[in-house]
Amino acid sequence: MSRRILVTSALPYANGAIHLGHLVEYIQTDIWVRFQKMRGHECWYACADDTHGTPIMLRAEKEGITPEQLIARVWHEHKRDFDGFLIGFDHYGSTNSEETRAHAHAIYARLKAAGLIEVRAIEQFYDPVKQMFLPDRFIKGECPKCHAKDQYGDACEVCGAAYQPTELIEPYSAVSGAKPVRKTSDHYFFRLSDPQLAGFLRDWTRPPRVQEEAANKLREWLDAGLTDWDISRDAPYFGFEIPDAPGKYFYVWLDAPIGYLGSFQALATREGLDFDAYWDAERAAAEGTEVYHFIGKDILYFHALFWPAMLHYAGLRTPTGVFCHGFLTVNGQKMSKSRGTFITAESYLRHLNPEWLRYYFAAKLTPTLEDIDLNLEDFVARVNSDLVGKFVNIASRAAGFITKRFDGRLGSLPAHDTPLPALQAAAEAIAAHYEAREYGKALREIMALADLANQYVDQHKPWEMAKQPDREAELHQVCTVAINTFRLLTLYLKPVLPRLATQVEAFLNIPPLTWADAGQLLTEHLIQPYQHLMTRVDPKAVEAMLADNRESLVPPPAPVRHGEHQQHGVVTKAAEPSALPPAQPAEGVISIDDFAKIDLRVARIVAAEHVAGADKLLRLTLDLGGERRTVFAGIKSTYAPESLVGRLTVMVANLAPRKMKFGLSEGMVLAASDERGGPFLLAPDSGAEPGMRVK
Ligand SMILES: [Zn+2]
Repeated sequence: MSRRILVTSALPYANGAIHLGHLVEYIQTDIWVRFQKMRGHECWYACADDTHGTPIMLRAEKEGITPEQLIARVWHEHKRDFDGFLIGFDHYGSTNSEETRAHAHAIYARLKAAGLIEVRAIEQFYDPVKQMFLPDRFIKGECPKCHAKDQYGDACEVCGAAYQPTELIEPYSAVSGAKPVRKTSDHYFFRLSDPQLAGFLRDWTRPPRVQEEAANKLREWLDAGLTDWDISRDAPYFGFEIPDAPGKYFYVWLDAPIGYLGSFQALATREGLDFDAYWDAERAAAEGTEVYHFIGKDILYFHALFWPAMLHYAGLRTPTGVFCHGFLTVNGQKMSKSRGTFITAESYLRHLNPEWLRYYFAAKLTPTLEDIDLNLEDFVARVNSDLVGKFVNIASRAAGFITKRFDGRLGSLPAHDTPLPALQAAAEAIAAHYEAREYGKALREIMALADLANQYVDQHKPWEMAKQPDREAELHQVCTVAINTFRLLTLYLKPVLPRLATQVEAFLNIPPLTWADAGQLLTEHLIQPYQHLMTRVDPKAVEAMLADNRESLVPPPAPVRHGEHQQHGVVTKAAEPSALPPAQPAEGVISIDDFAKIDLRVARIVAAEHVAGADKLLRLTLDLGGERRTVFAGIKSTYAPESLVGRLTVMVANLAPRKMKFGLSEGMVLAASDERGGPFLLAPDSGAEPGMRVK
């Protein structure tokens, strides 16, 4: 029976570039959507840029443009990147749309009518210079618990304490630097603490609507009790003004998920779809339509608590499922700008084929919340061995004979002893894996079938048959079998490799493959001459991509920091850039170019601990302005760990990581010493911030 399904991915914020971490989600979702379409279901994929809020407003102001100009530019960048990775949205909109505004107004009005909106005066920090209320993230000050300096208004990154911004010691505005004043203003709250909501959510947040692991987390939050949610912000704010409250705006997190409705509304208008059949609570229940949200685990709270409560009490349907995934690591570590592993979508596409990454992510994806790792060495090996060595190879081994010896026409199939029945029989098992988001299992199964197909060709040796004129008929059959195995493998891989599948469909001269086509085989059919379908991954291209992402940190004229990252295997030691003249300085003297190779950065020590079994070492956790590093430093003789927390120092950020007995050391801090004492850590003057380059 044909299902009617609406699928969404989280809305990317219109304040930065799409990177490979984002793409885990869009690729995961896109594969699922393409699979559903191949199964013959009506499946729609809607998404949008998330465009509102203070960060957008301030960034536009900084760039001297309007927020509308900023979000229009970013929309095009995002769309270009998604197109590049073959993400097949049926509609990609913006939350700053009339459709989203209308739904935000309607939901608000219904929640208000249900008695779930409450106005309360709250006291907040206000920037008297900038004349605006300050969001928590735009207030900094000293942590009230551990007294670390320069902590954000909502939580301390040093001790992990959460608090109200008004509790900060010596707070200052991160926008203007001014000392904020306390000011009272009316705020609109969604009454999540209402007992009926807790009851509803307790019942709603169960598997299979959410994954088991997510359900456990949600239970913890519900047990701790929900507090009312502040859904308004005061002007100046870039967003939707609240209809009956001039000067008050909906908080960006209120209208972001409503963007799913807005985007689908635009799609429904364009395609003539019945919007209410998907979103009206009664209609959706009667018609059995389904709605799924794919999200990262960091926004579970919003999607599995706030969002279903908003929908339910506004008379709308709630999602059929919220599918959470983990984060991306690269080579086992958090993505890092200085290692070049904070890889933007745009830079990946400049060097590498998008379907390689789609395949690699799919091979790693499971339906759990576990993080997935992009190991670049494994990426090269797996793509080359699976896609090129096993899959594409089958076609290239058989197609030439069909073209040259049989005028491009497939022949008949032998009645026995082919892998085709096994390949056809696997269709439903593979489909079940895709449906359950077990892409890794699906691909393992498909590659096992590719092994069968290759074994068949190896056993029959068409290249030997081709030399024996009396075996012409046999050769024709063997090549026809091989092409049929290739067609079936293409069908099974099509949700992951849509572009390659389109090329194969042109080569085989067939209409777009659907899942039902697994029941048929191709005989006595004219195909096109084989053209090269996919190249091997060149490790040098991976290296060049990393170099691009590293370079973007450094001002253009500075020499590129090559020669690092040997530890990652695939990223073999790079030669010095040939454009640089060979430096021949006097002995003991280095050139400015040599010095520039050392990436010195201001770093904040966010944690310092004793290392069990080490006499001299402390384990330091350093913050380089967002990125964290672990460094083992031989400074135990002069410093107690607790005295270091919160202070700034200078580190060598591009030192090749070193495996030590106690763990991996990812850099070095600078300290002075001689016979008179030390080591004494270096400290920058005030004004320096974590991540700043020292030169
Ligand atoms: Zn603290």
